[in-house]
Amino acid sequence: MHKKDLLNNSSIRGQITTFVFRKNLNNKMLDIQKIRADFPILEQKVNGKPLIYFDNGATSQKPRVVIDAITKYYEEINANIHRGVHTLSQLATDAYEASREKVRNHINAKEVYEVIFTSGTTQGINLVASGMASLVKEGDEIMVSAVEHHSNIVPWQFLCEKTGAKLVVIPMKENGELIMSEYDKLLSTKTKIVAVNHISNALGTINPIEYIIKKAHEVGAAVLVDGAQATPHLKPDVQDLGCDFYVFSGHKICGPTGVGILYGKEEWLNMLPPYMGGGEMIKEVTFEKTTYADLPHKFEAGTPNIADGIVLGTAIDYLNEVGFENIQKQEKELLSYATEKLLEIEGLKIFGTSENKTSVVSFNIEGIHPYDIGTIIDKLGIAVRTGHHCAQPIMNYFNIPGTIRASFSFYNTKEEIDTFVEAVKKAKMMLS
Ligand SMILES: *Cc1c(COP(=O)(O)O)cnc(C)c1O
Repeated sequence: MHKKDLLNNSSIRGQITTFVFRKNLNNKMLDIQKIRADFPILEQKVNGKPLIYFDNGATSQKPRVVIDAITKYYEEINANIHRGVHTLSQLATDAYEASREKVRNHINAKEVYEVIFTSGTTQGINLVASGMASLVKEGDEIMVSAVEHHSNIVPWQFLCEKTGAKLVVIPMKENGELIMSEYDKLLSTKTKIVAVNHISNALGTINPIEYIIKKAHEVGAAVLVDGAQATPHLKPDVQDLGCDFYVFSGHKICGPTGVGILYGKEEWLNMLPPYMGGGEMIKEVTFEKTTYADLPHKFEAGTPNIADGIVLGTAIDYLNEVGFENIQKQEKELLSYATEKLLEIEGLKIFGTSENKTSVVSFNIEGIHPYDIGTIIDKLGIAVRTGHHCAQPIMNYFNIPGTIRASFSFYNTKEEIDTFVEAVKKAKMMLS
């Protein structure tokens, strides 16, 4: 785009639509090679070997359209939002708000102001947990599950320390599923909020959140769903689920780091006090009293992460163009293929064996520390996560220091799994 176009509002508005990604994929079958060509990083060699990236649970890779959209924002419309009357400020504001609307549509929130931009899942949970301090009192109960990420445990512990409320934990079974009969027993009118993940990051288990939400509402408790591991694989419908809060991160869904979403039902967001004070979140400020801005700005103090907020919309477009049905089909095949191949290795044990799981295989090999295997296969260009995966209580349950976690995305292939399984075998031979 040329500089003179900047003066022409309608032309630049046309440019903004290029933040919308159109791929026109044939919805029948994924052409994996074509998809892989969208991700520049996948062409890399790491330690002299073609990169095999199986750490998608920690963060996803980014397609070219997302990378380009970030540059495009800074090259063409960078300005602060909601402030200036000048053209660029309006364009940046429009693009940012268009992205919010895109998210609203993607998760089917009722109102666009129920979509709050955050820095990620962690911040979303902290915002809610910190705000709940004004609504929770001593003797109340806060419920989490045995399969939570530390992000969905620690903020609630802060809340309990502040208020004298008690943290209650829904227990799990050996296969990684939560025990719903125990959940039923733990629920009571003392329960103020139930905070659970939609899908476990360490084990891949898909939790029965529909049931959890329905039961919690019967006793008047609110429900926060941590969707950080679900949103890469599915399109949540927050109205259909009926959850009160739903949080996720941009960087796990092919988007940039440093941006995430907190969805909250209007009535809940109105009940919570602001999280941070500053610019953008006020209606009127005097030294005597400040009144707060309406939703969503009440929770968006200061200059937000404008570029990445806009580009989150590009990432969502990209995933929708690939199609969640296609994504799920490919990932399901990869999961069953990897599970079958890995189980051929003697002494290998998989943690998280529910029928209801996403493309995550967490495993150990008898007598070998997960870290050692991770280190050896890294030399072969393979990226997996080793350790406790920010879910130490799960590791304590199984009485292990950690696992090796291979988490697959739709851009991974069976050939990569073959190479990975061979590498694990080799590592096992070297270490035993
Ligand atoms: C990654 C993850 C988080 C934390 O997300 P951040 O992007 O680090 O804030 C929370 N919960 C689950 C289930 C996760 O997988």
